[in-house]
Amino acid sequence: MQVPDIIIAIDGYSSTGKSTFAKLIAKEFDFLYLDSGALYRGVTLFALENGMITDGDRIDLERLIPALDGLDIHFESGSKTYMGSRCIEDTIRTLAVSGSVSPIAAVPEVRAYVDRRLREFGRQGRIVMDGRDIGTTVFPDAQLKIFMVADDQVRAQRRYDEMVSKGETPDFQDVLANLKERDRIDSTREVSPLRQAEDAFVMDNSDMSLHEEVVWIRGLIQGRFGILETRW
Ligand code: C5P
Repeated sequence: MQVPDIIIAIDGYSSTGKSTFAKLIAKEFDFLYLDSGALYRGVTLFALENGMITDGDRIDLERLIPALDGLDIHFESGSKTYMGSRCIEDTIRTLAVSGSVSPIAAVPEVRAYVDRRLREFGRQGRIVMDGRDIGTTVFPDAQLKIFMVADDQVRAQRRYDEMVSKGETPDFQDVLANLKERDRIDSTREVSPLRQAEDAFVMDNSDMSLHEEVVWIRGLIQGRFGILETRW
């Protein structure tokens, strides 16, 4: 299916499967996938490793904000996250980082830093990006916006399974509590809170298989852009 050079913005609550879905879309339509949460996680890792976060949410802004200018977080080899020459893809997914990322993402200067980077990537078009404010703030003119939701238990189980598969030994209740707390902070912060864009299509994938998600997006794109499929 020939999809035009559009930007697809995927937003939604934590662990609703946004990145899995975005990667599927990237593969299906040959788009570049960009994970905006990875940049927030990268800033959080940097702050944690430099002792700028204490008690989980006390942030040393006097040190963090000036340091953002020289902070090189970027993507390499597809969509792996790097800080300078170091691959941080796995480290940024640990519960330690998840526990501090939402307070970091509520800092206006951090959001400005991440938005700048994301918009640089966005200039090339043909990208699918996932996050919390892509369709509302980063790319309000994105031609296709999707807002993802899923049942709490299903979301926690997904994140739990992902962590176990990486060798971690999390407690299920801790994972569930972390999701809910991040949703609360993300939805109530002053700058670019998580919310559904008015022109977003909602996907509840609590009971959907990945194949059903692909069928859903193909149908949506066909309808939205008037694409006729000529495959028999
Ligand atoms: O998507 P992921 O769960 O990796 O994002 C980690 C955190 O980064 C979120 O909980 C949220 O606090 C923050 N975030 C954000 N805006 C985005 C993407 C992520 O505030 N566009």
